[in-house]
Amino acid sequence: MGEMLMSDRRESLVGRLIDAMVEAVVSGADRLSDLDRAIGDGDHGVNMIRGFLAIAEKREELGGMPLGAALEAMGKLLVMNVGGASGPLYGSLLMAMGRAAAAEAPLGTMIDEGVAAVKKRGKSEPGAKTMLDVLVPVQLAWAQAGAEGLEAGAAIERLRQAARDGLESTRPLLATKGRAAFLRERSIGHLDPGACSSCLLVNAACDAFLNSRKS
Ligand code: ADP
Ligand code: MG
Repeated sequence: MGEMLMSDRRESLVGRLIDAMVEAVVSGADRLSDLDRAIGDGDHGVNMIRGFLAIAEKREELGGMPLGAALEAMGKLLVMNVGGASGPLYGSLLMAMGRAAAAEAPLGTMIDEGVAAVKKRGKSEPGAKTMLDVLVPVQLAWAQAGAEGLEAGAAIERLRQAARDGLESTRPLLATKGRAAFLRERSIGHLDPGACSSCLLVNAACDAFLNSRKS
């Protein structure tokens, strides 16, 4: 998997990543807003669409950049365009992953740096009913897949499973960060919208990696 991110594959990967993520956000937006309506202010889908359409508009320019620079630029576009709390958080994630990629770090390090940046920006850890309840399990699953020496296809299945399980794990949690924390006990029993968007984005990234291997 590390070698998949190296050299000239990086360029074609950026366009595929953008297409897959934009499609995931556009088709999932209603669900994200519905989830946010239950425990937040109902704008998560609209926020995410605003950010990812700004990325889609720059697709050609971003697609010509190396992976690291492209991820950093995409992160900045999210910070500038998303609006809600999720903007700076996803922005920090992509910018940190981009900086690691620009330094030729392997995917595991990119994920580690990205997740660390979200924790720092959100002053949060898993268990608070946020996107970190998906991102941290995905981070751990990638490390575990590496330790087991799994091939890329099996490793990617682990990531998808970790994202799905992570999303479901938010249902019984009591929110202690973000808007949902105002609801206290009433946040219990609902999926977290940011965990849902993270699950969609992880799956989209997995699709893009698999597609870029085939061609
Ligand atoms: P807002 O809450 O400003 O309306 P969004 O609706 O776009 O922003 O995003 C809400 C999501 O952001 C939440 O579902 C949660 O996953 C995530 N989030 C909010 N605060 C934090 C935080 N401190 N740390 C990590 N994630 C957070
Ligand atoms: Mg919201």
